[in-house]
Amino acid sequence: MVGMARNGEENKSAFIAVDLVRDFVDLKFGSPEAVKVAEKNLSLLKKIQGKIPIILTKDTHIQNDPEFRVWGEHCLEGTEGSELYGKLGEIGGRIMPKRHYDAFFGTDLDSYLRDIGINHLFISGISTDICVMHTVAGAFFRNYRITVLEDLCCSIEPEKHQTALNIMKSIYGITIALSGKAGEFL
Ligand SMILES: [Zn+2]
Repeated sequence: MVGMARNGEENKSAFIAVDLVRDFVDLKFGSPEAVKVAEKNLSLLKKIQGKIPIILTKDTHIQNDPEFRVWGEHCLEGTEGSELYGKLGEIGGRIMPKRHYDAFFGTDLDSYLRDIGINHLFISGISTDICVMHTVAGAFFRNYRITVLEDLCCSIEPEKHQTALNIMKSIYGITIALSGKAGEFL
């Protein structure tokens, strides 16, 4: 699964867990499925911590953030809704607050990844069709190779999960894999 990049260069991978924050896991937009997915992310991240750079993004909004026109207030900075779920904050990942769907937009994510020589990203998180898909787009536009771990993602509206995976595969050329393959990238 790690394989070689198209130009023959070996993959150097990082793991981005998108928005496993309480408003998407067990508060405002949360669900039992989201809790299951967040716990599954946590157990994988515990196994790979120290072996691969991990970035945990946190949807974090300012008061009256324009995005609230679409979703209403959520993940407001300073509230528990914008905090990482459970023990995710303890796994030693780089915690990256973001205000927009795309984790590359308005953050130093790209320069951080480039500075540590990353060319391939494993991406997981919530919601598959929103912040995961836009972060995948941001990665695609910056020429990263991308693997989305489908069982470590879910959608706020469950029926959109598979649709989003299909779209990302067809327009961004992502690889879709199961987290059980994790051992292959350690
Ligand atoms: Zn948001």
